[in-house]
Formats: sequence, C-alpha cells, structure tokens
Amino acid sequence: MIRGLGTVHVVGAGLAGLAAAVRIAVEGGGVRLYEAGLHAGGRCRSYLDAELGCRIDNGNHLLLAGNHRALGYLERIGALDTLEGPSDAAFPFVDAKTGRRWTLRPNRGVLPWWILSAKRRVPGTRAADYLAVLALRRADPSTTVVEALDGDQEVFRCLWEPLAVAALNTCADRASARLFWRILAETLGCGGEACRPLVPRDGLSETFVDPALARLRAQGAEICFGARLRAVHFALDHVTELEFDTGPVGLGRGDSLILAVPAAVAARLVPALTVPDVYSPIVNAHFRCAVPASSPYFVGMIGGNAEWIFRKREGLSTTVSAADTVVDRPAEELRDLLWRDAALAYQLPPHPVPPGRIVKERRATFLASPAQLLRRPGPTTRWKNLLLAGDYVDTGLPAAIEGAIASGFTAARRAFEVAGAPLRSDRHWATRVTSKTSENGSAPFHE
Ligand SMILES: Cc1cc2nc3c(=O)[nH]c(=O)nc-3n(C[C@H](O)[C@H](O)[C@H](O)COP(=O)(O)OP(=O)(O)OC[C@H]3O[C@@H](n4cnc5c(N)ncnc54)[C@H](O)[C@@H]3O)c2cc1C
Repeated sequence: MIRGLGTVHVVGAGLAGLAAAVRIAVEGGGVRLYEAGLHAGGRCRSYLDAELGCRIDNGNHLLLAGNHRALGYLERIGALDTLEGPSDAAFPFVDAKTGRRWTLRPNRGVLPWWILSAKRRVPGTRAADYLAVLALRRADPSTTVVEALDGDQEVFRCLWEPLAVAALNTCADRASARLFWRILAETLGCGGEACRPLVPRDGLSETFVDPALARLRAQGAEICFGARLRAVHFALDHVTELEFDTGPVGLGRGDSLILAVPAAVAARLVPALTVPDVYSPIVNAHFRCAVPASSPYFVGMIGGNAEWIFRKREGLSTTVSAADTVVDRPAEELRDLLWRDAALAYQLPPHPVPPGRIVKERRATFLASPAQLLRRPGPTTRWKNLLLAGDYVDTGLPAAIEGAIASGFTAARRAFEVAGAPLRSDRHWATRVTSKTSENGSAPFHE
C-alpha cells in the first residue's frame, strides 16, 4: 500500500474507468471498481448476437499507431499483440458514385513527401492542395472545419471531410477546427508510422476489456458488477459516502472517488457540474458473410451511406458516423442500404443481402462542436477527493478511445497526488510502437 493513499473507488468500468483502475493497481494503490451493468467495457465491448450466431462489437473501433496512451494501456494489460493491421499506413478508398478506387499512403517519416507522389495521394489533387490544411492550426476556437478549409476542393471531399467525421463523429460543418487540428497533429503530422491503422484481431472485449479485468484481479483489485451508483454524499470539501443500489459505501481518510460514468450520469450525481449535452449518433451494420482473408482490413467510402467498411472474422461491418440523417430509418431499410456499400467496397454480389444486425448508438459521443467543447470539465472538482474521468472530460482530445484512456490515467495520477503520493507524469504511461515492435521490443503486432 502507498502511505496516505486509502482505497480509490472507481465507478464505471468503461475504458476510462478501466484505465484509471489499472494505473492505480499497477502503481501499487488499492482500488475497487464498480459497474452498473453485468459487463465491463461500456461503449467499447463485444457480445454474442444470438440471431447472427456470432460475437459482434457494439461498434467498429479503429486505433492508429499514434494513439500512444491507448497503446500504453494495452501494453500494461498485456494485450498489445491482440491488435492487427497493415504493415504500413495504407487507407484504401472507393468512391460510391464513380466506382473509382485509390489507396492513400502517407510515407513513414515525418517529412510528408507522399503529397508529392500522385500514386500516394487522392487522385485529381495537387501537392499544394494539402498545404491548405495548415489553416486549421490558426483557426480560432469558434471556427468549424468547413469554415477553416475550402469545402469545394477534391482533397476536402475525399480526405479531410471523411477524416474529420471519423475522428470527431461530427459533420465537418459543425466540428471544431481546433480539435481536428489536434488529431491531425498527433497522427498525420507525426508521419505515416503514427498513422498505421490497428484493429482488434478477435473483438473489442478481447483486446480492451478482458485482459484489463484479468490484470486487475491479478493485482488484487476488487471488481463489483451490478453496482449502480445512485447518489454521492458530500461534507464540506470531501466526498463521504457512495450510495449504490446494493447499499452504502463510506469513504474513509485517504479514500477517493474517480467518477468514470457517462457525462449525463455524472451531471446527475455531481451538483452544478457542466458537461457536454448534445450527442452524435453512430450506426453500425454487421453482416454475416464469407470474405476472403486476403482482402483489406477496412475500406473508406466516399459518397455512400457508410463511411468505413471493416472486414471481421465472421463477415463485414459498416460504420456511419455523425449518423443523424439515417439513425431513425427502420433497421430493414438500413440493412439493404448499408449492404449495398459493403458489397461495393469488397466487390461482393449486391444480392441476396446476407443476415445482418443494425446497432444504433444514439449517444455514441458528444458533438465535437466549438460550443460543446466549452462545456467539458477538467478532471478535478471542488471536492478534494472527487475526480472525473471519461471521454467527455477535457483532455484536449476527441471523445474516443485515446481520450477516454488519457482521462483515466490523469484521474489516477491525481488520486495519488491528493493523497500526497505523486506519480511520474502521464507520459510514462504512453507507448510508442514501430510497425514491428512495441517500445520495449516485446510485442510484435500481427499483420
Ligand atoms: C458505435 C461506436 C463506435 C466508436 N468508434 C470509435 C473508434 O473507431 N475509435 C475510437 O477511438 N473511439 C470510438 N468510439 C468512442 C469510444 O467507444 C468511447 O469514447 C469510449 O468507449 C468511452 O469510454 P468511457 O469510459 O468514457 O465511457 P463509457 O464507455 O460510456 O463507460 C461508462 C461506464 O459507466 C457505467 N455506468 C453508467 N452509470 C453508472 C452508475 N450510475 N453506476 C455505475 N456505473 C455506471 C456504464 O455502464 C459504462 O460501463 C465509438 C463509440 C461508439 C458507441
């Protein structure tokens, strides 16, 4: 045990809560993790779909090699080798209207000479078109992506717009230019090596969730499922008691609470907490069908209904981000519509439509608009032993895996600081990988 640090109570076992709990346990602290549901993972998990007869992910999640915090988390839970992806940054695209295909191939190094090569960039664009993206860097906090970039250019339609929608789950005309710049700076701006796409080999739970729970148990952490937090009780500047469905839990001297629940739940539990309150939906369609194992891990689509189509072990899966225009359409209609895109992307017959499952996540993430970003709270609160974690907390990153894990790491560090036991900076929990190995050379990725 760390002197001065009591038990850290982490409520919510999504990626933010898991990352916080893992860091506390690995750094030698005592941790108890509570989850309202019967499973961990929150918005990032897999489950058995009885109708399709296979396990599916609640949504398709893509990591990039530049997501150093997510990779740091996976390294600590021993799951780096559950990721796979192409050996280089290669993004195959198809235009649904014209059938034209191309592959975007940023070069490995930081100097972006790939924009000089017609074979590596979007067809019909010039190197100079790409430099215009630097305007994002100078954008003021109230500017949207469309306001900062020229929306009529081919490079916008075929690259910046789909990237912004995928990274921010927000249409380019509503998405913050600043936040988009931050993502580009951490990925494309660091060279192709940082853009290498990585996907879970078996499923989201097998990569992000199950190994974390195993690591926590091995460290002696207590994990309580079916424990919904109903109320938090405060005295002066401290949290004193947690009221769960299952009964009360008192907080003693040195104990702290990391609240890692979704934004709307946190706002109900913490007085006067301002959080983002406009959400953006994601629709996924999972199809059970045979796909050659030699076909690409994913294909980006321009001008279709889906934006990305992923090859899975049991078939194909399509993603529609910022899905406001399709989320209310009936599942049957969406199945036909999205199979058309999937079939085109992987050159499969459009008929018959294979068995499929539509998953609608209406509150997939908060809307990454300039106004909503102003509502993100920091990790600390006016109660000394209450810390916030979650993808809505202000990490400077979008609501995504990287941001959720970053917020969990920060909250864990702060819990140690509150107890007077400071930890090394969050950078020590980031892992850099090359296309062959992790930083410490231990975990080659599957290709
Ligand atoms: C369909 C979809 C696709 C996505 N695609 C990507 C992608 O490609 N790349 C990417 O990086 N990100 C993606 N994301 C975003 C990513 O999944 C989320 O940002 C991340 O999982 C959020 O984690 P979190 O821990 O902040 O919140 P959550 O996952 O929401 O976790 C919160 C947890 O708290 C629990 N809880 C709630 N209330 C209580 C209570 N009262 N008491 C106890 N527990 C409670 C919940 O059950 C849940 O387990 C996607 C999300 C969705 C939905």
